[in-house]
Amino acid sequence: MRSPDGSGHSVDGRWWLEEPDGTGVCQALELRPIHSERTPYQELAVWDHPWLGRVLTLDGVVQTTQADEFVYHEMLAHVPLLGAAVRRRGDGVSVLIVGGGDGGTLREVLRHPWVRRVVMVEIDRRVVEVCREHLGIHGDYGDPRVELVIADGTAFVADAASRGAFDAILVDSTDPGGPSEPLFGRAFTEDVRACLRRGGVLARQMGVPFYQPFLREAVALLDDVFGRCEIYRAAVPTYIGGEMAFLVATEDGATVAEPLAGHTGWYYDPAIHRAAFAVPVYWREGPWPVPRGESGR
Ligand code: SAM
Repeated sequence: MRSPDGSGHSVDGRWWLEEPDGTGVCQALELRPIHSERTPYQELAVWDHPWLGRVLTLDGVVQTTQADEFVYHEMLAHVPLLGAAVRRRGDGVSVLIVGGGDGGTLREVLRHPWVRRVVMVEIDRRVVEVCREHLGIHGDYGDPRVELVIADGTAFVADAASRGAFDAILVDSTDPGGPSEPLFGRAFTEDVRACLRRGGVLARQMGVPFYQPFLREAVALLDDVFGRCEIYRAAVPTYIGGEMAFLVATEDGATVAEPLAGHTGWYYDPAIHRAAFAVPVYWREGPWPVPRGESGR
């Protein structure tokens, strides 16, 4: 989702506009600039909003806001961690986060005392640094369980040292395009599977299917690499276009749709976990976009 002029700047002095690629639809936010820079990877900006609090954008796309980040980060972390059998590991659970520069996913993962190790591989050091200074939603990078690696996630999972090293891999990346493009490809997906321990789980964000139809392609890829995958959903107010989708797959093909332990956040709880797997038919099948003007099926 990019703003019309691609940089995220407003076009009339008051509104900052964001448009899902080619949809002719815009989200207008009244943002006050706090910080902006061009990193080696992307256009990074932090803004302030009277209701949303601090807002992080990358290349003109809303990544996270202080007001609704808990929805996304709770659902990306707790559904796989509490739905997969890895939760029952006696020797503790090791987690890899790919991306996640704002630190919100790390914060949620660290809430579980049975998580013994978290490696967060973020390509852009400046996202971590700027979010620590201006957003303050990050987990504790000083927690002895945490290892922050500034690197390309594709190279990290391709490294033989990562093979069979993780019980859960959470891909908290930007949408396809820019540095995250290879994270949606087959090589990365196959390397991720090779990095999972027995019964391990992969979860990743899949954008807002109503405007961003890359979900279908990703489902086909994960079905091929993992044998099956499941889609779940969450409503993140600042990701416009309806509910957003996540994909989850396990190394042994087990379902993740039933929570194996309890946890209550501000969005996530066991009931939400179960309900999140009831997703719209058009996300799974049928022509894209859904035929208009017909009398339905
Ligand atoms: N919550 C956001 C969303 O759903 O779109 C994503 C948040 S987080 C800011 C996305 C992070 O992915 C960014 O910090 C970006 O630098 C990182 N990223 C993109 N491509 C990457 C790659 N190849 N390896 C590691 N991190 C990457």
